[in-house]
Amino acid sequence: MKYFKEEGEKIICLLCAHYCHLKEGQKGLCGVNQNVGGTLKNLVYGYPVTLHVDPVEKKPLYHFLPATRALSLGTIGCNFKCSFCQNWSISQEKNLHVKEFIDPSRIVEMALKYECASIAYTYNEPTIFYPYAKDIALIAHQKGIKNIFVTNGFASREVVEDMSGIIDALNVDIKSFNKTYYKKNLGGSLESLLENLKAWKKKGMWLEITTLIVPTQNDSEEEIHAIASFIADELGVDTPWHLSAFHPDVHEQHLPHTPLSTLKRAYEIGKNAGLHHIYIGNAGVENTTYCFTCKNILIE
Ligand code: SF4
Repeated sequence: MKYFKEEGEKIICLLCAHYCHLKEGQKGLCGVNQNVGGTLKNLVYGYPVTLHVDPVEKKPLYHFLPATRALSLGTIGCNFKCSFCQNWSISQEKNLHVKEFIDPSRIVEMALKYECASIAYTYNEPTIFYPYAKDIALIAHQKGIKNIFVTNGFASREVVEDMSGIIDALNVDIKSFNKTYYKKNLGGSLESLLENLKAWKKKGMWLEITTLIVPTQNDSEEEIHAIASFIADELGVDTPWHLSAFHPDVHEQHLPHTPLSTLKRAYEIGKNAGLHHIYIGNAGVENTTYCFTCKNILIE
């Protein structure tokens, strides 16, 4: 796909649903895509700031290549502005880190060297570095390596179409079920997220959902029930749901850690909505996967 389109003196970035209109020299909301000479330049292409070998369960994906490794990478920047971001130091970083260029084939070589079954585009929002992720992902497929997006789900319609057949699995955040909260507090759109989730599901891409439960922000019974019901009704009851505990970070020091009791209540709400596989993360809880039918342990 072409990552931008021209409109008079400006270009429109087609990477995420903000569709930033950029004059010559201007950067978009994410700070890492810029109009340079009438084309879109992805300023973080080749410049990951984090690169780790992680268990795929840490993404978290529990039902996709379990017990394998994922080479995981992220850049700076984000198209959201969540005050509770747990990767704040890179997602809201404004200075480019351009010391060493790492071309896509070198990333794949590393994945092979460290025996990774997949490459995960994660830590910050991968949609904003999709041109880099896609080039890596195409080479990865040639070597039999799968590709994972860990995303806020605010990709453009164009990227949602384009990633089909390139990205194999996604962990997508549903951070709230409140339209106003998505717009004002996060800088996104609940409607776009839900449409994208339905589109990915329709395309047969593997989906798991994460909800970071933040005390006082999204922990009401009604909201948790609305999220669980959407997953069950629109994505299917076999879609794993990861309930993640919040810990106070840079901007939200006044909020407490998410109590285990809140996470357990959310778990019950999810079960009542019909979801088969719910996991509690960041809280020291064991997350065994059971067969929903015979109840035997599948993965411990
Ligand atoms: S990726 Fe999104 S936020 Fe960044 S320039 Fe493009 S449209 Fe704007």
